[in-house]
Amino acid sequence: MKEISSADFDQFVLKGSKVVIDFYSTECPPCEALAPKFESIAGLFSQDAVFYKIFRQQNRDLAERLGVKSSPTVLFFEDGQEVGLRLSGGIRRYELFESMKVLVGKEKVKEIKSKIQPETSDYDVAILGGGPGGLTAGLYLCQAKINTVLIDVGLPGGNVSTTHMVSNYPGFIEPQPGYMLSHFMSEQTKQCGTSYKVAVDVTKVDLKKKEIILDEYETIKAKKIIVATGTSPNLIGIPGEKELKGNGISYCATCDAKYFVDKDVIVIGGGNSAIEEADFITKFARKVTIIHQFEKLQANKQAQERAFANKKIEFFFEHEPREFKKVDDKIVTEVEDIKTKEKKKFISDGVFIFIGLKPNLSLLSSENIELDNWGYIKTDEDKHTNIDGVYAVGDVSSKKYRQITTAIADGTIAAISITRELDS
Ligand SMILES: Cc1cc2nc3c(=O)[nH]c(=O)nc-3n(C[C@H](O)[C@H](O)[C@H](O)COP(=O)(O)OP(=O)(O)OC[C@H]3O[C@@H](n4cnc5c(N)ncnc54)[C@H](O)[C@@H]3O)c2cc1C
Repeated sequence: MKEISSADFDQFVLKGSKVVIDFYSTECPPCEALAPKFESIAGLFSQDAVFYKIFRQQNRDLAERLGVKSSPTVLFFEDGQEVGLRLSGGIRRYELFESMKVLVGKEKVKEIKSKIQPETSDYDVAILGGGPGGLTAGLYLCQAKINTVLIDVGLPGGNVSTTHMVSNYPGFIEPQPGYMLSHFMSEQTKQCGTSYKVAVDVTKVDLKKKEIILDEYETIKAKKIIVATGTSPNLIGIPGEKELKGNGISYCATCDAKYFVDKDVIVIGGGNSAIEEADFITKFARKVTIIHQFEKLQANKQAQERAFANKKIEFFFEHEPREFKKVDDKIVTEVEDIKTKEKKKFISDGVFIFIGLKPNLSLLSSENIELDNWGYIKTDEDKHTNIDGVYAVGDVSSKKYRQITTAIADGTIAAISITRELDS
């Protein structure tokens, strides 16, 4: 696949027929997750469209001209005009197929999909999710010579890979970039010999049969399944949020803060993630305004002290956002004072939302797996769920404290339990 720059854009894209572009950045886990899918789609549709990659950091003017505000962003062009919906963030393979319909037609997409040959593979253990919990389980199982596959819809690393700095993971004197920590965890498990199926779409999971279908055509059969799917950011659920996601609204400072050099940014939230990430964003932004619904921050003391001492951060307590709107290049955030009900408008170049997390369980909603009152998977001490041969570890499981260290502890326990059960 060809890499092009701003200088080639008019010739290759505006004067081209059917063109698909991936604007990517470095140090961007969703960009890396997209890369193999984009390449595979480019191969399948090589007769029907031309696929290019553009490195956003070196082509900022072009990205701004096209209104590309998030990495990765995939755009579709036909005869020099942008067509269909642009995709951004954690882009799934089926979304790429859906978007190709606009460019080459439904029938062509159907024909190409029908030519993909189904495959089946057998493993002792399948791990769903490659965050610290899943990676640690994969490491222990691999060292016990158990045939294991680790499946992730993105790249391995989980939430650690999008965390700027981790200062509470034992073994390192200095804070470690989350991206590197998760990279080392992943490489350790991979080099041990655990099979990886990453950046895939998990089409279907049947926990009772122990079958997982990937990308619609590949079936994974296992004796045991570990669910380690972690959590995803909560959305606020107000008008404009979905529409501007990836187009001025972001949930990942590690991915997008670097595009706000000398700009004004709003951060919504007041917990650890919001405060630590706001502090990180000030390395780039001119000013960060934190909007928080309560009268005090919920973040730990250390993070609060750093944020209060940071001259670039301003706080608005007891205010809640009600609507986001795009006006020219700016995001207008309407907020309401919780006490007086008075409404105010904040104009910024971008908005980052950190208002907590929800368990990633949508694929298991019909699986009768037992959940606690907050929607997290119940387990016993050895991480068994109520379904025979199915385990849950890390943030997706019911527990009091959700940290890297507690996720890796869970992964260890599940792997040792499985090793003993398979041996007996
Ligand atoms: C912004 C932020 C900062 C944090 N900072 C710290 C910190 O400094 N120190 C600390 O100890 N903890 C921190 N945490 C918490 C820590 O990241 C989590 O506790 C830890 O990552 C949990 O690991 P996990 O393996 O359970 O899940 P996750 O890390 O959430 O990983 C889950 C994985 O599952 C994948 N997945 C999701 N759905 C599916 C599916 N259907 N099929 C297959 N794969 C799927 C995801 O792509 C992901 O890779 C932070 C969290 C956030 C969000």
